Amino acid sequence: MRRSQLFIKTRHNAPSDETALNAQLLIRAGYVHKEMAGVYSYLPLGKTVLDNIVQIVREEMNAIGGQELLLSTLQDKALWETSERWDSEVVDAWFKTVLQGGGELGLAWTHEEPMTRMMSHFISSYKDLPVYTYQFQSKLRNELRAKSGLMRSREFLMKDLYSFSRDQAEHDAFYEKITEAYMKVYSRLGIGDITYKTFASGGAFSKFSHEFQTLSHVGEDTIYLHKAKKLAINQEVLTDEVLVDLGIAREELIEEKAVEVGNIFTLGSRFSEPLNLYFTDQDGNNKPVIMGCYGIGPSRLMGLLAEHFADERGLVWPEAVTPFVVYLARLGQEESVVKAADTLYQQLTEQNISVLYDDRDERAGSMLNDADLLGTPRRIVVSAKTLEQNGFEVKNRRSNETNIVNKEELIKSLA
Ligand code: ATP
Ligand code: MG
Repeated sequence: MRRSQLFIKTRHNAPSDETALNAQLLIRAGYVHKEMAGVYSYLPLGKTVLDNIVQIVREEMNAIGGQELLLSTLQDKALWETSERWDSEVVDAWFKTVLQGGGELGLAWTHEEPMTRMMSHFISSYKDLPVYTYQFQSKLRNELRAKSGLMRSREFLMKDLYSFSRDQAEHDAFYEKITEAYMKVYSRLGIGDITYKTFASGGAFSKFSHEFQTLSHVGEDTIYLHKAKKLAINQEVLTDEVLVDLGIAREELIEEKAVEVGNIFTLGSRFSEPLNLYFTDQDGNNKPVIMGCYGIGPSRLMGLLAEHFADERGLVWPEAVTPFVVYLARLGQEESVVKAADTLYQQLTEQNISVLYDDRDERAGSMLNDADLLGTPRRIVVSAKTLEQNGFEVKNRRSNETNIVNKEELIKSLA
């Protein structure tokens, strides 16, 4: 992509009401646009990062038998009354709206109810089970505070998977599988080493649920880490009884701030009973389907990755999600420089290396600052000076090291 043709504008300053570093950087670098408090639009580069995160999650969900579908945002009041979650006193996150002809609708903040009811039209026998359905869908939540940028917004993308199993054993086996799949997602995103499976409150059907918490000083959650066991306990559930249960001594734990980047939950028959999702087992008995739900927030992850890897110059993307691998800055309009940069751009593109080619007639300083702000893993400079040295200047954005490299080495190192 040529920079001159890309829909983007970088800025010196973020909006003055934006308090979160992730949103400040993403706005300045032209990845997102702030519509209003807690509401962001994704511009081409931001959309690419989000898509890259989504694709990683999708691959890992498909690998464990997940089947992607897409449910509606508009929600049926009667359905949610059946599960006793319509009342705004019970669920304060609801956005609700009214039909022209009269009657209320909800805007989905999660999908247990519609997913369960839909399944009741498709599941009737043990032969229909197990099944694992998931979607990437915009959730709408009337969050009281929206001060963490993309990490807590009022409209955000969620991957929500629902499992439908015949019995507890089948459920437990899948629960283990998806735990591993989640850790694979976080490892691929470059945050595996700072993301902990965390014991959190469970509900009527299991003692605990599990959150996946990534260490971050801007995290809204307080967790207690057990480094050796690579697990953590959410402050919400930290009691003497829980410690005994897990065989952990209080002194072994360290308090940390963290961001919840996913959670998994055993639902048992919490929704299948009221919403009438039953099946006939091999012996002809009628039983409620055993369910679980499993969330990951790609938009929160994007905010977290932006915030976590950034330095004083701007964003620093992990290779797995970056919109481009290379920012190619052409400094100067001399014919030899233009020719060398054009040729390099073409050759890198032919090798399937994704390049943002800054072909504008701009000040060198402003181009180099933009490259740093945008956060591509590599910045390559072509100028009269680098050509004299028979190569290109290559900077590693993460380490900020620069080297002069000849073309052959350069292509080899990027391929
Ligand atoms: P939190 O406790 O942070 O409000 P939650 O427990 O309400 O999160 P879930 O309803 O389980 O979260 O949602 C699943 C995932 O969706 C979360 O793990 C998180 O990654 C993401 N998520 C939840 N709320 C938001 C939000 N307001 N903005 C962005 N992502 C969110
Ligand atoms: Mg919440």
